[in-house]
Amino acid sequence: TATESCSSASSDSVVSANSAGSLYNVVLIGGSGVGKSALASIFAGALDSMDGDFECCAGQIREQTVTVDGESAIITLLDTWDPQNGGSWTQEQCLQAGDAYLIVYSITDRESFERASELRVQLRRARQSEDIPIILVGNKCDLVRCREVSLNEGRACAAMFDCKFIETSAAMRHNVWEMFDGIVRQLRLRRDTKEA
Ligand code: GDP
Ligand code: MG
Repeated sequence: TATESCSSASSDSVVSANSAGSLYNVVLIGGSGVGKSALASIFAGALDSMDGDFECCAGQIREQTVTVDGESAIITLLDTWDPQNGGSWTQEQCLQAGDAYLIVYSITDRESFERASELRVQLRRARQSEDIPIILVGNKCDLVRCREVSLNEGRACAAMFDCKFIETSAAMRHNVWEMFDGIVRQLRLRRDTKEA
């Protein structure tokens, strides 16, 4: 994680997708309160603990150079899904802007899990002929006693939707970089398949 920049949310400020290179737009989508901004803050390196203010960079777009498996990639992470983030982005623009998606729900909120399924369908409809990398992300896995969605339900849902699955905790920083590394690997897999 060498470079970092924060810019205000504007649909003009994101360079159009370049699926052949190592410059990728990754979009966080999912219900409100599931932890998208918390995950984005960790990506931006803005927080050292849960005590930090997750809303500090809300609605923003963060660019980071990440090194995965010895190869670097420039990831632009968009946390522009929730309207209250105040950006100029519509959800339709979010559905078009991504080279890859992190569909986030909270394991403590069954409604957010159902919302994730709806979003998977919506995304498929919006980008019909494209094979877009998606990870279904069950966040807040530290809150074991409030769990409403089991690990197996998450896995089964991802299998049904033909996408990857991971449980994370932004609070404990558990599996967060595994998630970002995972999406980079999937983007490369798609790229390499196209080039072959
Ligand atoms: P967003 O609406 O999806 O952007 O959700 P936020 O990132 O704003 O998080 C909503 C609330 O959940 C905040 O109070 C966060 O502190 C909290 N939160 C986010 N991720 C986690 C997590 O992994 N574990 C716990 N316990 N709380 C979290
Ligand atoms: Mg947010």
